[in-house]
Amino acid sequence: MAESASRMENLKVSDFWSLARTVETIRSSPSPETGIIKSMPLGIYISVPFCLTKCSYCNFASDVFSRSVFVRYVDRVCHDIANARGTVADVGGVLASPVDSIYLGGGTPSVLDPEQLEKIFAAVREEFEVLPEAEVTVECAPGTLSAGLIDTLVKCGVNRVSLGVQSFVDEEARAVGRLHKCETVLEEIARLRTAGISNINIDLIAGLPHQTAQSWQNSLNQVIASGAPHVSVYMLEIDEDSRLGRELIAGGTRYHAHFVPDENATADSYLAACERLEAAGIPQYEISNFARPGFASRHNLKYWTRQPYLGFGLDAHSMLPSSAAAIEAVRFSTSDSLEKFSAGAPIDQTPVHPQAAVEETFFLGLRLNRGVDLESVAADFGADSLIPLRPVIGDLTAGGFLQPLGNSIRLTARGRLLSNEVFQKFLSAEDVTR
Ligand code: SF4
Repeated sequence: MAESASRMENLKVSDFWSLARTVETIRSSPSPETGIIKSMPLGIYISVPFCLTKCSYCNFASDVFSRSVFVRYVDRVCHDIANARGTVADVGGVLASPVDSIYLGGGTPSVLDPEQLEKIFAAVREEFEVLPEAEVTVECAPGTLSAGLIDTLVKCGVNRVSLGVQSFVDEEARAVGRLHKCETVLEEIARLRTAGISNINIDLIAGLPHQTAQSWQNSLNQVIASGAPHVSVYMLEIDEDSRLGRELIAGGTRYHAHFVPDENATADSYLAACERLEAAGIPQYEISNFARPGFASRHNLKYWTRQPYLGFGLDAHSMLPSSAAAIEAVRFSTSDSLEKFSAGAPIDQTPVHPQAAVEETFFLGLRLNRGVDLESVAADFGADSLIPLRPVIGDLTAGGFLQPLGNSIRLTARGRLLSNEVFQKFLSAEDVTR
């Protein structure tokens, strides 16, 4: 983790001839029309920015609010869902496909009352054609899964639950403000299964205060033993947007900041998770995500493979095909301030031109272990679309951050640890080519 972007500035284009040959071969193939995302099923995201407590490491647009705020917010979200087609037309998007994934995230959607959850799902099903086999996920905080809530989830057609566990070690969970104990998590997983929801994700964070190599192994042991088919592992983010991050940057001791492992230990924990989960039959498929075969998150794959999605609520992001011929897609998002969102702040929108779409295909697709298939990019966007990116791909391959595999390129283990710096290179290329 001591590597920096400046290290990569010095890389030379050298050892990537096979990759270059692949690109040359692809260049000689015909250039089809662009418009990759037009016929794919839609994902619906709904943000519920409310939590029972604010975790010290949290840098999301979520907070603790009274139940009267919930009521107004749910009404607003349902109103926006009912008016989705008008909004999409206003931003120049196209909404033509049925829905094959719904994701309620936040925040902690499970803090809503059962009636409020039912109202949101009813609004979605009223406005959109939801396919019978759709993946329907709700993020839940362990300790909130009452029998009534589980009944409501089943009634709403929820078939996947994501649990924000973060650590199975009670001292670590308590230190960052989580309210659950290991025992609670295991008991709630059992009750979800009994109710028929066995597609469960568990979030873990490497680098929490008080975490040691041994305690991290305890969390990994528990997550494997739980039988959950999907695990997300994040490294603690240290930035000005969380209380713990600010304290760490200031060198203080509040929020147990002085018990946060150093960045090398955190990176080691992440690598240990990759190994342990793979050995347990839960291989990595994305930088932070691991799944048993058949259990990769359909909804999240939409973000990384540029399939269309439509978001509702606070700080909700959308990407849809564009109705304008020269524009490949339109991205738009709502405000991340509840005050501004509630006051009707305008939607922020960005057109995605074809070359920018190619660059997105790389820096999003490279998050996946399978990488980016150069033949597919050429088929979707035309072979010439790869030319501006060749120097970047060459530099990163020579530096050991990317590796060719057949007609694809993908991150190496080193590239995965330094993925933000790698993706920045593709963003820089985008700036240069515009
Ligand atoms: S539960 Fe999740 S969204 Fe809520 S404060 Fe904690 S980390 Fe943030």
